[in-house]
Amino acid sequence: MNMRYRRLGTSGLQLSELSLGSWLTFGKQITDDTAEALMRIAYDHGVNFFDNAEIYSKGESERVMGRILKKMEWSRDTWTVSSKVFFGAGGKQPTQLGLHRKHVVEACHDALKRLQVDYLDLYFCHRPDPNTPIAETVWTMHQLIMQGKVMYWGTSEWSAAEIREAHALAEKHHLIAPVMEQPQYNMFHREKVENEFASLYDTVGLGTTIWSPLASGILSGKHTLDGDTSSRLRMAGLEWLKERELNEARLKKVEELKTIAKDLGLSLPVFAIAWCLKNPRVSTVMLGASKTAQLEENLKAVEAQDLLTAEVMAQVENALAGEKLSTW
Ligand code: NDP
Repeated sequence: MNMRYRRLGTSGLQLSELSLGSWLTFGKQITDDTAEALMRIAYDHGVNFFDNAEIYSKGESERVMGRILKKMEWSRDTWTVSSKVFFGAGGKQPTQLGLHRKHVVEACHDALKRLQVDYLDLYFCHRPDPNTPIAETVWTMHQLIMQGKVMYWGTSEWSAAEIREAHALAEKHHLIAPVMEQPQYNMFHREKVENEFASLYDTVGLGTTIWSPLASGILSGKHTLDGDTSSRLRMAGLEWLKERELNEARLKKVEELKTIAKDLGLSLPVFAIAWCLKNPRVSTVMLGASKTAQLEENLKAVEAQDLLTAEVMAQVENALAGEKLSTW
């Protein structure tokens, strides 16, 4: 399989079409050996972006990834790594959370230490912070970039209006603006990427690193209403996720989608990930995997996207008709 690369919005950085994230898996659901095997498979298939966040396993996910990156000794100019700030790494005091200057700077320093890197390639504001003026965050990100600690900054699950405001402030003060947003995007969550952000791609040049391409595994087609016994949907503390993602109507749609995928000779997860890649506004699809076999399978989506003709895409629209575009 040959990986393909896309520019991150109008920036010059090219990310692999498929990338690897660590939410719920690294430092939690999987062993460090499996995490290492996943990163090795990804890298060997041309993946050049690994996604992380301060909150993932309260910092442990970054520690695990940092140890693996160090051990692998892959040349630093062949991969990119991210962190995200907002939720904190476990502490709940107001100084330990949010997008104010103190936390954004401290979280960056902590992520650098945990990941054992000199700079973050991508640094995201994990959610908007109603308690911090956007100008304070824009200035702070600009200063971190000037200090060489961050290469590109962006947002995650911000509104189009908030992203526009960040750009307006950056332009006014000659600061470096956010280049990417990290929204959820899959056959069941389309609103932000397809509608809300539509005006941002050609104006501010927004790139997107999209999350949960399989809606937390629902679009793998393996689930029943109870959730697969070994999956994240059965993990303690994640009842809200099962509640949000899994329902009878969805499972019915999944069966219809499975038939379309089967006609093309594709498994549903490969088909669903390839469907995300068909959207040129997607810069990279971030994969999650709890097993190496899942990742090996999902990586086939790069080539599979060529099979998704306009006719196939129309079949998908028919199958999804009546599905609410976004549920949260
Ligand atoms: P997916 O929706 O693709 O879910 C991945 C999970 O689905 C796997 O861990 C596995 O879970 C199951 N799965 C994957 N492939 C298969 C397969 N072939 N067959 C069967 N089951 C499969 O992506 P994620 O939700 O993990 O999101 C990807 C990344 O996006 C995250 O790691 C994180 O980096 C980022 N993210 C960012 C967020 C944000 O707010 N910015 C929020 C969420 C994610 P299991 O085996 O347990 O069923």
